[in-house]
Amino acid sequence: MTNRVWLDQPGLASAAGPVPAPPAAHARPLQIGGITPFTSIDFPGRLAAVVFVQGCPWRCTWCHNPHLQPRRADDASGGRPWAEVRGWLARRTGLIDGVVFSGGEPTIDPGLAATMADVRAMGFAVGLHTAGIYPRRLQDVLPLADWVGFDVKAPLSRPALLDRTTGVAGSTGAVQQSLRLLRASGVAFECRTTAHPALLDEAALQLIGDELAALGITHVALQRARPVAAAAAPLDPVPKDWPSAATLEHFERLFPHFVLRDG
Ligand code: SF4
Repeated sequence: MTNRVWLDQPGLASAAGPVPAPPAAHARPLQIGGITPFTSIDFPGRLAAVVFVQGCPWRCTWCHNPHLQPRRADDASGGRPWAEVRGWLARRTGLIDGVVFSGGEPTIDPGLAATMADVRAMGFAVGLHTAGIYPRRLQDVLPLADWVGFDVKAPLSRPALLDRTTGVAGSTGAVQQSLRLLRASGVAFECRTTAHPALLDEAALQLIGDELAALGITHVALQRARPVAAAAAPLDPVPKDWPSAATLEHFERLFPHFVLRDG
């Protein structure tokens, strides 16, 4: 997940003014934990805003956005109303051409599909960041997505490693099912792995590469973890020479579209 969260963007409410009424489909409004008004790196080829959905059932100890993990009991308990964000987005037409739903885990929210449909109807391309935690919800929203950034946090053949990362037993089955659905959907996507020596050693990273290549996946990113003070277990800075040149060459050999990012 991306980590540029503005929980309380100054001027958002006042800039919004009178907002267009959202469609009736928003009987269950999205729980929004924050927004980023402009990004050129979270949705390939697009200038986009990011809408961070509140809630995630996993508890990755190094999570960049731990404040987005708890789900609010009801949407009246705080957060930015979708109608307000929608009005603000309407005024961004021509300045941005995409909206990315990130989190937290966006597919946790039953209002995601209607909100994505709404954003499409406004003329924006729609991106989605997901860890594949809810395959059925993902299946529902894939027809509404133009691009997906899919987290692969550990080798798919090493379920214990993923469980250790997420803090939740049995995490791998959902990820495997979601990845199958995503590959079958025809939606453009990228698999991305957070890279830090305390999370995965280089053999595990290379195994992820081998597994994704065997599935025919072409777009892959390694994202060097950025230390986050608010994380439950803050990580040390990633050494400058990590991952090694051998691991990077391994990925470059496997994938026509490989990128190393600083997360
Ligand atoms: S999947 Fe992990 S890193 Fe992503 S939001 Fe949930 S707890 Fe944080």
